[in-house]
Amino acid sequence: MIVAIDGPSGTGKSSTSKAVAAKLGLSYLDTGAQYRAMTWWMLSNGIDVDDAAEVATAADKPTIVSGTDPSAPTITVDGTDAAGPIRTQEVTAAVSAVSAVPEVRARLVELQRSAAAAAPNGIVVEGRDIGTTVLPDATVKIFLTASAQARAARRNGELNGKEAADLAATQAALVKRDAADSGRKTSPLAKADDAIEVDTTDLTLDQVIECVVTLIEEKRAAR
Ligand code: C5P
Repeated sequence: MIVAIDGPSGTGKSSTSKAVAAKLGLSYLDTGAQYRAMTWWMLSNGIDVDDAAEVATAADKPTIVSGTDPSAPTITVDGTDAAGPIRTQEVTAAVSAVSAVPEVRARLVELQRSAAAAAPNGIVVEGRDIGTTVLPDATVKIFLTASAQARAARRNGELNGKEAADLAATQAALVKRDAADSGRKTSPLAKADDAIEVDTTDLTLDQVIECVVTLIEEKRAAR
């Protein structure tokens, strides 16, 4: 059972994917965390993230390891816990440039496919290009969407006042990142033709989880 959950930021992808995996006894992989980990390593090692050639040359240097237990997902870079540092505004602002570099994607897609192949009962993989590129034969493909306003409000809520800018600034940053992710040449953010779109704007997290679980169970029953 391979479940691909794609969509832009702030649609509830991570919370939904983790909860669905835990409910169904599947592993869980956050591919955005891997692109963030790569970006954090580049920033920490003085790589100019706007120089695609420099990023490409460095892309095979960091060792990125993801723990796939949905109740306690982990990510390390060269053996160091990176869960905190990958969520800073600095990393968020740089991640789209790094993730647009084909050598970065090739490296991480390989990790993602191995994680899916190694999952004992199946896996929920969340990202931007899982249904289109990473796991095109996934059993179930979900594409989550939500209005830009709803996504910005959720993101500000997650930041918990720590780094939260005003709503308009958060929304502008989200829209900018989506445009970069959707507009890049190599496997952009896109809905696969056979993905089911779920608009989460007016749904609670529990409703989204229930909807996705139902879609997976229907698929299971039909097989
Ligand atoms: O999901 P999250 O917001 O943590 O993802 C961070 C960034 O990683 C995205 O904005 C995108 O640039 C990149 N990403 C990607 N492909 C994926 C997952 C994330 O390019 N499958």
